[in-house]
Amino acid sequence: MPTDENSRYDRVPIPEEPATDRVQSFVEIKHPYTADEAVLEAQRCLQCAMPFCVQACPIAQDARGYILKIAQRDFDGAAQVILGENPLATTLCKVCYHYCEDACIMHERGGEIAIRQLKRSGMEMGNAKIEYAASAPVHERIAIVGGGPAGLMAAWELGLRGYSATVFESEPVLGGQIGAIPKYHMDGYELELDVARFRQLDVTFTVGARLGRDFTLDTLRSDGYLAIYLALGTPGHNTLGIPGENLPGVVAALDMLEETNRSAIASLGRRVVVIGGGDVAMDAVRSARRLTHVGEVTVVYRRKRDQMPAGHEEVEEAEAEGVEFKFERAPVQVIGRGKVEGIIVRRVQLSAPGPSGRPSIVPVAGSEETIPCDSVVVAVGEKADLAGLPPELDLVFGGTGWPQGKGDDTMTGIDGVFASGGRSVVHAMAAGTRSAVGIDAYLRKRAGASPTPRPNPFGAGAPLGLPAGYGGPTWSP
Ligand SMILES: Cc1cc2nc3c(=O)[nH]c(=O)nc-3n(C[C@H](O)[C@H](O)[C@H](O)COP(=O)(O)OP(=O)(O)OC[C@H]3O[C@@H](n4cnc5c(N)ncnc54)[C@H](O)[C@@H]3O)c2cc1C
Ligand code: SF4
Repeated sequence: MPTDENSRYDRVPIPEEPATDRVQSFVEIKHPYTADEAVLEAQRCLQCAMPFCVQACPIAQDARGYILKIAQRDFDGAAQVILGENPLATTLCKVCYHYCEDACIMHERGGEIAIRQLKRSGMEMGNAKIEYAASAPVHERIAIVGGGPAGLMAAWELGLRGYSATVFESEPVLGGQIGAIPKYHMDGYELELDVARFRQLDVTFTVGARLGRDFTLDTLRSDGYLAIYLALGTPGHNTLGIPGENLPGVVAALDMLEETNRSAIASLGRRVVVIGGGDVAMDAVRSARRLTHVGEVTVVYRRKRDQMPAGHEEVEEAEAEGVEFKFERAPVQVIGRGKVEGIIVRRVQLSAPGPSGRPSIVPVAGSEETIPCDSVVVAVGEKADLAGLPPELDLVFGGTGWPQGKGDDTMTGIDGVFASGGRSVVHAMAAGTRSAVGIDAYLRKRAGASPTPRPNPFGAGAPLGLPAGYGGPTWSP
């Protein structure tokens, strides 16, 4: 509790496992606020008339609205505001990259509001055991290929509007890349809780069914699907393109992280080098530190620390957990007789900006060094897998490589087939909404009708929970 008037402006610290303890296991690092802590933190929110937090969120989640409910100690109300526009909230309250917090104006006044943590308070202390309600059935079938967050969000949007949607997922479980997120971020049961709320919608999940192998766009059409959404994500990964890369002991970060979540027994040896500087590289290196029982784990990244694409929180937590960083170095060759024994890296420098305005990476002659290691984990980006898909789709590739349609509504080169994805869970959800809205507009236009607005997800007449006096604080800031 605050001890003086000024301290009320300081962010209520998020309880977490100390670095020395947490690195011994995959136990979740962050713990929930108590109810009192949540209320105290929520009461720091200024209830901005122009809420930058909401504007920064790809799905425009009404953070201001649920924070106000928590400030009033109304956790049920907060859960309702959250779930009214966010069907994957149990997952996102643990793993969202919280773009809202980066935009929060309290940054300069004791720290940005702990919005993601407050969402967790709303979801865990409020009544989140609702089921969504579908509108009157439209009797039109839509196929969604890919059960990651983009596909699931589209299923929610279309299910609410009364469509009959089938999600086809090639893997045995739903979630897409959510399944690779390490358990120290979230336990792994969260998505199941989220998808359980879809029960009343006309959404069917078919796992282990791969487009291009088990069915085609043509068979979907002949089965009566009037529109198809491809939410295929980036299941492949980029390679280093250096000698020795095929030695046993060189593994892709995505494969290693998925394997770890399934069995927690990835055998990496004691010394691990991870190549890359993004969030996936941080997940890989922090997981490696745990899997090697606090062994020697090193990140090799070709630019400087402040140029890492990974979020600063991830980098700081990795440093606290004892990860070693080697910046401005590029891999040259993986070495070993029959298996990985080390990796040769070379110093690199950035040149002056070229015609594109971006500096290029220039190797420094004679600067090679060998890092002895038992495994090399490659985390240099993912890519789409379009095997078996027709070229007429005329797909383009978004930020981290997901396939998408060229149209504003994400329609591909084939009439009635849409495609999109996103660089984070919440971005993928926003993409799913965009495609679902495009599909609804396409189908309603064929029927000579107007697009269907998103119905009240809790059923006609159910209160959406916007508080009286919304838009202004009910306490003195
Ligand atoms: C290790 C890792 C950690 C991450 N951590 C976070 C995090 O903490 N927070 C965050 O916000 N984001 C995180 N991300 C990013 C986030 O998970 C992705 O941006 C998001 O999952 C993309 O969603 P999507 O639905 O577009 O694609 P995906 O999640 O890739 O889902 C696509 C789905 O389509 C399926 N599929 C592909 N081809 C076919 C086919 N031919 N037939 C049938 N099914 C097919 C795939 O199996 C997959 O299930 C992380 C990503 C990785 C790899
Ligand atoms: S103070 Fe509150 S309403 Fe304003 S940006 Fe931060 S969280 Fe949003």
